[in-house]
Order: sequence, then C-alpha cells, then structure tokens
Amino acid sequence: MHELALLQELCTLASRAAAEQGASRIHRLELRVGELGGVDPQALRQAFAVVAATAPWQEVELQLEVVPTRCFCSHCEQPFRPTDVIHACPTCGALSRQVMEGRELELVALEVS
Ligand SMILES: [Zn+2]
Repeated sequence: MHELALLQELCTLASRAAAEQGASRIHRLELRVGELGGVDPQALRQAFAVVAATAPWQEVELQLEVVPTRCFCSHCEQPFRPTDVIHACPTCGALSRQVMEGRELELVALEVS
C-alpha cells in the first residue's frame, strides 16, 4: 500500500514545518487529494490510522479534500468535468489531453501550537 509511504512522507514534512515554527504539537493536517492522483482517500485514512497510533500523531485530526478531475477542451476553449475515464468534452466530444486539476497530493494546512 503506497498510501502509507506517501503519508509518512507528508507527516515528516509536517513535523519539520511544525518544528520550524517552534511548535511542539500538531492539531490538524489538511490534505488535498486529486481524483486522478492514484491515491485512494480511503486507503489514506487507513494509513493515517496506522501513523496516528504513534506520537506525536495521536491527537491529530486529518482532513482530506478530494479534488475532482477537471480537463480543458482546446476546441471549445473551456474547462469541463469528465464523467468517465475517457476525457471527452461533453460539448464537442473531442478528447482532452489537458488535465487541469485532479492529480495533486498536497499538504494545504497545518495547525500547530
Ligand atoms: Zn469541446
């Protein structure tokens, strides 16, 4: 399960950021997970449960924001939300090769004290 490795990496980043701010406790961790990022939010939560069994993560709240996929149609010059794994524009039917959003996995907020 690669979610655990990913999460451990994010936790390392978060604790480093907390230390830089002179904080000793982490309260909340907020992540953005893209639908196309290959990361399963459910698996990420399970991975967090593993990490949360150890200090200093025991009382940390994990918040996940799932970012929907958004593509861009170069014909219509408009973004659209694909409904399928095939990214076809709902207006003209052209296949889009430009994914604007949906691949991210990032740490967006960290609450420390
Ligand atoms: Zn189109």
